[in-house]
Amino acid sequence: MRFFVPTDIYVEKNCVRNHAQNLIAVGKRTLILTGQHSAAANGSLNDVTYVLSAGEIPYMIFSEVEENPSTDTVQKATQIAKEFKADFVIGIGGGSAIDAAKAVALLLANPDLEADDLHKVPSHPLKHVPIVAVPTTCGTGSEATPVAIITNRKVHLKKSIPHVLFPVLALVDGKYLESAKKTLIVNTAVDALSHMVESILNIKSNVFNRMCPEYGLKFWGECKEALLSDDDVDESLYEKLMLTSTIAGMSIAQTSTSVPHGMSYDLTLHLGVPHGPAVGYFLAAYIEVCAKYVPRDVAKILSLLGLKSTEEFSAMIRDLIGTCTVTHEMKEKFAAAMKVNRSKLDLVPGKITPNDIDYIYEKSLVVK
Ligand code: NAP
Ligand code: FE
Repeated sequence: MRFFVPTDIYVEKNCVRNHAQNLIAVGKRTLILTGQHSAAANGSLNDVTYVLSAGEIPYMIFSEVEENPSTDTVQKATQIAKEFKADFVIGIGGGSAIDAAKAVALLLANPDLEADDLHKVPSHPLKHVPIVAVPTTCGTGSEATPVAIITNRKVHLKKSIPHVLFPVLALVDGKYLESAKKTLIVNTAVDALSHMVESILNIKSNVFNRMCPEYGLKFWGECKEALLSDDDVDESLYEKLMLTSTIAGMSIAQTSTSVPHGMSYDLTLHLGVPHGPAVGYFLAAYIEVCAKYVPRDVAKILSLLGLKSTEEFSAMIRDLIGTCTVTHEMKEKFAAAMKVNRSKLDLVPGKITPNDIDYIYEKSLVVK
């Protein structure tokens, strides 16, 4: 058994400024990647640039990372990073900005590689320049995973790229959630929940790496009522939500995600569904299917969340993210692709059958 997360992770209020020395020790010049607005609005960008300026580290800001970052954006940012001679990158934002930073870090260390080559399996492990992650959503846990999910729009492919891209440093501060709308907090918290559930309901799950999802699910359960309520989430929960998200990232760093994530990418790619709900729609039915093979694991997940049954789990998810409607043709097409997605299917404990896959799609989506 192995547990591997080589990232130096700090979780606390005012984390970036508290750990200024760690940040400026990472390199000499940096490209900061952010989305268009949120990093400037929630104070995270200001915290980072304050520390870099005080430490006399030259930086450039690339603030064009879109949701579900594309190979085109990664290519553009890499060009800027090269011209600036950046020797490390900082991703500030949700999973999109952090994943884009990871991809740029890989391309900087491999100048012959183009962004459109990112999904090709390399003949040998590739290096990357150091990555710093400052998350501002409570969902992807990308600050603690080796994964970057990049979309190649030319070939309609949204997938993790086959490279190991752990950040060297993660600075996690719940205060950045203050500017987030309730929907964003809920959507991203559902992603974190999925990471922990998919990590436990996974053939790579073992008594050693379970310490993360089992610990994190308890925290998630403690935030459940606040997420379900009509009121805004109280700021006293921000740190717990962020910590849970990081722990959920550490969970999938050991096992990787499974079927619900595999199914989510088509909903995002073809219908523009945000990542958290796109995964969350499939979660209850996935749990039901796994209950046939690993009933004790399912019982454990429910009890950690403070739920009595899979029906209660399903109702909770519906309250949080509602439903998703697709056409019959879409559902058939997505299911056919999933039935040959061995990289996800082979992670399911027990034998998931084509009928199980059809059942998950039937149960999870509203088909018109
Ligand atoms: P996101 O796509 O990074 O951001 C979603 C939206 O939230 C953006 O409009 C962003 O605005 C805004 N936002 C971010 N932080 C905010 C804040 N504190 N306050 C207000 N608005 C804020 O969302 P995400 O769910 O975190 O990331 C999703 C991506 O991560 C997907 O591509 C998914 O596939 C990937 N993912 C990666 C991993 C991994 O291990 N690497 C795991 C799961 C998912 P701006 O654009 O203005 O910043
Ligand atoms: Fe995810």
